Amino acid sequence: MPYKRDVYERAVYKEPAPIRDHENPFQSMVERFDVAAEILELDPGFYEYLVTPARIHITAVPVVMDSGRVKVFEGYRVIHNDILGPSKGGIRYAPDVNLDEVKALAAWMTWKCAVVNVPFGGAKGGVVCNPSDMSPGELERLTRRYAANLIDVFGPEKDIPAPDMNTNAQIMAWILDTYSMHTRHTSNAVVTGKPIMLGGSHGRHEATGRGVMTVTLAAMDKIGMRPTDARVAVQGFGNVGSIAAKLLQEQGCRIVAVSDVSGGYYNEDGLDVIAMMEYANANKRSLDGYQKAQKISNDELLTLEVDVLVPAAKEDQITRHNADQINAKIIAEGANGPTTPIADQMLKEKGVLVVPDILANAGGVTVSYFEWVQDRQGYFWTLDRVNRRLDRMMRTAFDTVYSASQKYDVTLRIGAYVLAVDKVAQALSMRGIYA
Ligand code: GLU
Repeated sequence: MPYKRDVYERAVYKEPAPIRDHENPFQSMVERFDVAAEILELDPGFYEYLVTPARIHITAVPVVMDSGRVKVFEGYRVIHNDILGPSKGGIRYAPDVNLDEVKALAAWMTWKCAVVNVPFGGAKGGVVCNPSDMSPGELERLTRRYAANLIDVFGPEKDIPAPDMNTNAQIMAWILDTYSMHTRHTSNAVVTGKPIMLGGSHGRHEATGRGVMTVTLAAMDKIGMRPTDARVAVQGFGNVGSIAAKLLQEQGCRIVAVSDVSGGYYNEDGLDVIAMMEYANANKRSLDGYQKAQKISNDELLTLEVDVLVPAAKEDQITRHNADQINAKIIAEGANGPTTPIADQMLKEKGVLVVPDILANAGGVTVSYFEWVQDRQGYFWTLDRVNRRLDRMMRTAFDTVYSASQKYDVTLRIGAYVLAVDKVAQALSMRGIYA
């Protein structure tokens, strides 16, 4: 049936959807998806299928705190879809994580896996908690109970968690162990991003930042910018931001600013990223108090006179309120959803080349896929092999997205969505709808 915008609008919305900027991540996802659906003339029924999460799990997670008091946390796991394979995606622990955010992040995993050609569907999990206020014991009990509650959801062939904001290899190890205790055998392919000793992959820890570096270089190449001429600002100094900064510096870029929750740090002559990583490691992962830089605000960082901006913190950082003040020529989205749809439009008008999240930060899930393959084969690769294959997949994905954006005369983001939605829709069409 030919696609008609008004048909799906009636099916999904009650009235036509204007472009908004209200910072609801799921809505932000849908707005980009809509544009891709329109370009692809997606069947209205498929539209509805692909925009709707397949399963949403909400679970109460009771934990005996160190004080002896029981506290109940809310946990989520959203499977957006598993058309291309088992669903894949991280788990985030944060005080403000909510279901809409997890739904958006799950959908972004679906499109991300499709863009880099990894045979997974998309999922995401979250627990509303403040890990910085919790002891290691409390975090372990929280993690194990969350995993036990979702024991029928997770599985190496079903749904495979990984680290995300405020979760790490240790938390994956506890999930692996909890799952394995229930299944009565060690099942290391049930999570990725775990310690190497438990079947983790070399290069997984650095993979997202490395992928950001690879696509940033590819984007520079397209506009004739030399890495050695590039001044870079990185928002966020966690696993993604710090490693992207370090690797871009190794490529000759000058990292003039980075930031974390304690604020921004600026040095016109270039920051010593390695020293800052060491400082943060010794300082509860925070740059608070770092002296060898000028202190700026997070907002100032985003609008600095730089060539490349890497938002690697969280959603909704580049919005209609600051997009017109962005000075970078390239934005490489290390975070998921850092730019709102209205900001997209404003950046496009300014001629900023935005490498979108579902491409730019896909290095993490790509090496998660390598990890899962290695676990299932029981045969492990060298770091060199992992990095070579990662670089190749990221380069190919960049080139494919770039070609799609040229073909349809759209931004890289819409090009990426068109590729991803088309791929998943084709797979759905081949599989058909089970009745
Ligand atoms: N949390 C990461 C992401 O947002 C990685 C997910 C994974 O490796 O499964 O892409």
